[in-house]
Amino acid sequence: MTLLPGHTDDDRFREECGIFGIFGHSDAAAHTALGLHALQHRGQEAAGIVSYDNNQFFSHRALGLVGDNFNSAKVIEKLKGHAAIGHNRYSTTGETLLRNVQPLFAELHSGGFSLAHNGNLTNALTLRRELIGRGSIFQSTSDTEVIIHLVATSQATTLIDKLIDALSHVEGAYSLVTLTRDALIGVRGPTGVRPLVLGKVGDAYVMTSESCALDIIGGEVIREVEAGEMIIVNEEGIKSLRPFPEQKTRFCVFEYVYFARPDSVIENRNVYGARKRIGMELAKESHCDADLVVPVPDSGVPAAIGYAQASGVPFELGIIRNHYVGRTFIEPTDQVRHLGVKLKHNPNSASIEGKRVVLVDDSIVRGTTSRKIVNMVREAGAKEIHMRIASPPTTHSCYYGVDTPEREQLMAARYNVQEMCEQINADSLAFVSMDGLYRAMGEANRNNECPQFCDACFTGEYPIRLTDRDSGVGKNQKDLFAGLAEVSAG
Ligand code: AMP
Repeated sequence: MTLLPGHTDDDRFREECGIFGIFGHSDAAAHTALGLHALQHRGQEAAGIVSYDNNQFFSHRALGLVGDNFNSAKVIEKLKGHAAIGHNRYSTTGETLLRNVQPLFAELHSGGFSLAHNGNLTNALTLRRELIGRGSIFQSTSDTEVIIHLVATSQATTLIDKLIDALSHVEGAYSLVTLTRDALIGVRGPTGVRPLVLGKVGDAYVMTSESCALDIIGGEVIREVEAGEMIIVNEEGIKSLRPFPEQKTRFCVFEYVYFARPDSVIENRNVYGARKRIGMELAKESHCDADLVVPVPDSGVPAAIGYAQASGVPFELGIIRNHYVGRTFIEPTDQVRHLGVKLKHNPNSASIEGKRVVLVDDSIVRGTTSRKIVNMVREAGAKEIHMRIASPPTTHSCYYGVDTPEREQLMAARYNVQEMCEQINADSLAFVSMDGLYRAMGEANRNNECPQFCDACFTGEYPIRLTDRDSGVGKNQKDLFAGLAEVSAG
């Protein structure tokens, strides 16, 4: 989910999230908390769980990490029932509002309805404006709430049909889990950009963002929820529907590059293996004479291992990471982000002094991390620093569920590779090619007519309409959120 722009507690899209849903387990909430803990990398700002015990819905939503908020029997025992859904949310700058924390919940005509969403709806503002015009009263600034209002106002008869009707109006990328009085429902959007996997633990069914959330509870993967598929789990069992017109699927390649956990398996590819193969392609494409391959930990580690294996240059941990600092990128202000890099990484000087070092990281976004790290490694005495990046240059913002800054802030949107190299003060800089990235995914190359993945952040080819952005609705929301701004200021 994303917060809608134009609101004072938010200056850019942030929508990396992790979702989890379970049905038919006596310990549903505890399993959900564990699943969310395994998905913590997908969002660290807030977490929430909604459960249902055949009589009543229970909810606990809080700002902060899963481990800080769902760590006591007292909290878990209150979340009664055999079914639950949960959500991890990404960090925001400025004010952080509990009302935006998911799962969202509403009392509909048909009873309680709870929803957790990973992705970003690209026509949410347009829909929101229409809904407000028809009398809807929104409680949050999250795009996800649009779905609830569409369900509430749908003329269809059953709740399932209302949900299908609602989703047929929605554009963008989404994987979601919903909890109703009868069922756990999981839906993966027709383009399949965001992940969703179906699994089992004992007799209970689970739907979650990544397989690592099943591993943690001793569960097993059954299969991916397919693009455009809706899976309904209730007392009678499990049912699959295909309610949306079929579309070419375009899974997000950046999940493999950076976002997913390395031990997850997505669409039959182990994420760690994919990252290693990108590193191997990188070594083949832009080898350089060096003494050491050093990863920027942790994001660059698997690609650096692949690079070292393919090039024969020894792998060393030349930078040590402090694990008690969150992901650099996720720090809320520029000032803290800069500080964060220093807090997080320290050169292992003994191993890099006097050496020609190949530094490997997964991506360059604003360039802050690379600049800091290169300078740090240079100060630690490295003789040469050759930066190798295990993705093509990030030239475009993502509108489908990965947090990226505005285009103007993307280093690769402003500078060519040579200029970037100078900016980060490296001796050389190279990115894996698009074809190299696709080869690492097991494709012969990028089929430009019909690419397998969503790679819009590298190509600017957006496979799903950007209605809000293109109509300008997303740019001038002051009128729409004027009231909210006052409330949030308090
Ligand atoms: P930057 O300092 O802005 O260039 O950020 C690059 C670093 O942030 C890389 O080392 C990545 O590991 C990490 N990164 C890339 N994309 C994201 C993202 N969407 N969210 C969080 N971290 C990211």
